[in-house]
Amino acid sequence: MATIFTKIINGEIPCYKIAEDDKYFAFLDINPVKKGHTLVIPKIEDDYIFNLDDDTLSGLVLFAKKVALAMESAMPCKRIGLAVMGMEVPHVHIHLVPMENEGDLNFAKEKLKLTPAEMNEIAEKIRKEL
Ligand code: AMP
Repeated sequence: MATIFTKIINGEIPCYKIAEDDKYFAFLDINPVKKGHTLVIPKIEDDYIFNLDDDTLSGLVLFAKKVALAMESAMPCKRIGLAVMGMEVPHVHIHLVPMENEGDLNFAKEKLKLTPAEMNEIAEKIRKEL
């Protein structure tokens, strides 16, 4: 069965899209730890980042870099942090998070509650910097 992220890629589930090419896709995390928290995924399904072949993995990181640089311009932050967990969704994803301090990468803390209008505004800001 398709993962929830494949359904997002295919447009079967809505998302706040940031960027896409033939192999990769980026969209806002629906439960952000910080404003601008973005997920970057490969279009192929695999549940573990270190199962990816070298080309797919390096392409994923380079795609994440483009998105991260746009996020850095769009969102107030010191830098963009990167995390890979995959405890919840079995489809490889890199979390990109605008950081002010190391506590911003604490995924156990309460998530932000943003309105659809706020999420759309953030996605638009990041897309403009791509
Ligand atoms: P993890 O698998 O532990 O790295 O976490 C999965 C992440 O995916 C969480 O931060 C969720 O908030 C996020 N997530 C799950 N479903 C969606 C969705 N439909 N749209 C955007 N983000 C999602």
